This record gives sequence, C-alpha cells and structure tokens, in this order.
Amino acid sequence: MSISQIGRSIAESATLKLNETAAILRSKGEPVIHLGGGEPKSMPPIDAIVTASQLLASGEVRYTPADGIPALKKAVIRYMEEFYDRHFEPEHVICSGGAKQAIMVALQAILNPQEEVVYPAPYWVSYPEMAKLCGGVGVPVHAEDGSFYPRIQDIEQKVGPYTRAVIINSPNNPTGAMYPESFIAEIVEFCERRDLYLIMDDIYHRLIFDGRKPINCYKYSKAPLESSKLVVINGVSKQYAMTGFRLGWAVGNKQLIRVMANIQSHQTSGPSAIIQHAAVGALNGVQSGVESLRQTLENNRNVLISRLEAFSGVRVNPPDGTFYCFADFSAYDKNSTRLAQKLLDKVRVLVMPGVEFGLDGHLRISFCGGIKDIIEGVERIKWVLDPDAPNELYLGTRKLVRDW
Ligand code: PMP
Repeated sequence: MSISQIGRSIAESATLKLNETAAILRSKGEPVIHLGGGEPKSMPPIDAIVTASQLLASGEVRYTPADGIPALKKAVIRYMEEFYDRHFEPEHVICSGGAKQAIMVALQAILNPQEEVVYPAPYWVSYPEMAKLCGGVGVPVHAEDGSFYPRIQDIEQKVGPYTRAVIINSPNNPTGAMYPESFIAEIVEFCERRDLYLIMDDIYHRLIFDGRKPINCYKYSKAPLESSKLVVINGVSKQYAMTGFRLGWAVGNKQLIRVMANIQSHQTSGPSAIIQHAAVGALNGVQSGVESLRQTLENNRNVLISRLEAFSGVRVNPPDGTFYCFADFSAYDKNSTRLAQKLLDKVRVLVMPGVEFGLDGHLRISFCGGIKDIIEGVERIKWVLDPDAPNELYLGTRKLVRDW
C-alpha cells in the first residue's frame, strides 16, 4: 500500500497506546489508577452548558464563519484585554477545534518544508509531530544546566537560518515549570530582533500556584500589532475543564490570522457552532470555577510532592503550575517506556513515559484526578520499585506478592 512520506513519519503515540491498554484493563474490571491524564475532572461551567443547550434546542445549528462567530471573538477579545492588557479587533482572532488545531494551523501558515520551529524540552508531545505534518522540522532545546528552565542562550544556540518560529509553553506540559518573567521578556525581545514568530502556548496560564500571577508577554513587545509576530494560544479545555468540547483560539497579526482562517476553512470549516456557543458561555459566565480548580490542583500538587519527596531515589521539581509533575525515576530504570509498562502490568498504575516528551528516565504523573488515587498510586509505584517495601500489597481484595 502506498502511504505518504509525511503519513509514515508520524509516530504511534506510546501515550495513547498506554491509555488504550488501561481502558481495556478497566473494562475487564481491573483496579486501574490513571495518573496519565491531561484533563481536570471538575464540571464545565454551567453557563457553557446552558448556552450550548439553548442553541441545540433551537435547532438552528448551521455553518458559522470558519474563524469563529462574532460573539466568541468578542469574548476572546475581552479575555485578552483582561490578561494581556491589549485591545484586539475581531480580525486578530481565530477560533479553532481546540488549542491543538490553533497551533497546527498557525504552523501551517508559517512553515515551509524543511523550515524549523524551536521549543524547549521537555515539550508537549504534539509539537514535533505538528512540525512534521507541515513538512517542517521540530528542534527541541535542552537547558544546558539540565533544569526545566531554559535560558535565552540555550534557545539562541538552536536558532539558525531555517528557524521561523519558537514555541513557548509556560507553565509547561510535562514539567509544570513556569518560566520566569525575565525569560519571557528576553524571548519576546529576541524573537522580535530576529524576526521570528513567537507562539505562546498559554493554555495553562491561569493554573498556577504559590501566589504566582499569569505573565503578559505583550508587556515586553515593542512591535506594533500589525507587524507583531507574537501569537497567543489558549482555549477552554484546561481552565474550564472542557476538554471534550474542543475549542481553542489564536490571537495574532491580521495577515497571519487571515491565512490561518483560509487554511481552516478548507480543513474543517471551523469549530462546531454548538461548541462555540458553549465557549461564549464559559468565557462570559461566572469565573469562580477556574479559581476553585486552581486551588484543588495546588492542593493535589502538595500531596503528590510530599509523597514523592518521601520516596528515596526519586527526584522531583515541584511544579509551579499545570497538573503534571515530571519526576526523575532514572535511579530505578533509565528506560521510561519500560518502567511505565511495568507499573501498569504489575500494579495497574498508568503514568506517562518521559521519553515521549523528550527526556527519558522520567515519568509524567498527573495530579488532575482525586487525592485518593494520587496517594494510592504513589504507594503502588513505591511497592514495585522500593526494595524496602513490604512483600505484599492489596489491590482491592486481591493480594499481590512480590515475585521479582
Ligand atoms: N498545548 C498543550 C501544552 C497541551 O498540554 C494541550 C492539551 N494537552 C494543548 C495545547 C491542546 O489543548 P486542546 O486542544 O484540548 O485545547
């Protein structure tokens, strides 16, 4: 069978494969603890459900403009004013099927074949594959000091004649690291000086801890909006717990947004009308759910970190935000795929192998689920790995005896 080069270049996701295995185990009644997920479990805002239901009940569910309905663009503009202190016009905004599609369409509008997009590592799993889907090349940047906080010099070293864009995701999936404001200032200045697009994937910007405040990248931009190459990405998935709705957006210069709208108009004709209405409800409605989610996540983070810190051999950097912790398990196994598989096989705990995010020896542990799962999940992992752990473990009523 003939399959395109690009099609063949897209790797099977070990992450999705583990998810599938876990789902199969669960359907067989196995007591799986899922610490691999990327979605909050809280209810979406009631305003989102009401506005979407109203449209659905009217039956008037038609095509919309491919780049989004005016009411949603207006809501995004208000959001941008609140968090970025800049006034945008509807032509600066495109609404897409998730932040994922917004980033994908932006890259399709920016990259020619072989051109490069640079991003710090560890990185979100989709960036390299998105670059490949454009015929381009993803270039990960590891911080020279081995930390999760890149320096501007690290980025600079990887920027060459083919670089067209930099993606910054802060706070970061998978590490939870929120880059310091001084780094954001430097990267904005650097990209403007080098005439590069800077895609700020701000999807987790409100889910931050220890009194941190969201960072406004526009504060450091000197370029007028019309020539600005700053592109801000966000969506309703994480902050409003609306992952399955599939709605995100991009804000950027009018020319880029027009090209993105043209591309999207042929790909999907834009996101579903019902979901756009849901997003209007979420953005314009009562906001208290975001803060209560943030508090729950901060509490979950504290519980997870205290358990991991008491786990000898595991090294952790407490996440500044998001709902992921990227812990170093290399003292137990340098191969994170093998280790994640072992944890699922032995004690039915699902965590994500770090190699998927560009750093082996680590596991990404999500803390967006319940506290009970977090505590029991870490206990089970400890039982598998810690030679001093008792010989037996109960999974519900089933007794496991260590046989390795
Ligand atoms: N960026 C990052 C860093 C993410 O973690 C995710 C979701 N896992 C997205 C973008 C995409 O979010 P969505 O498409 O659900 O809006």
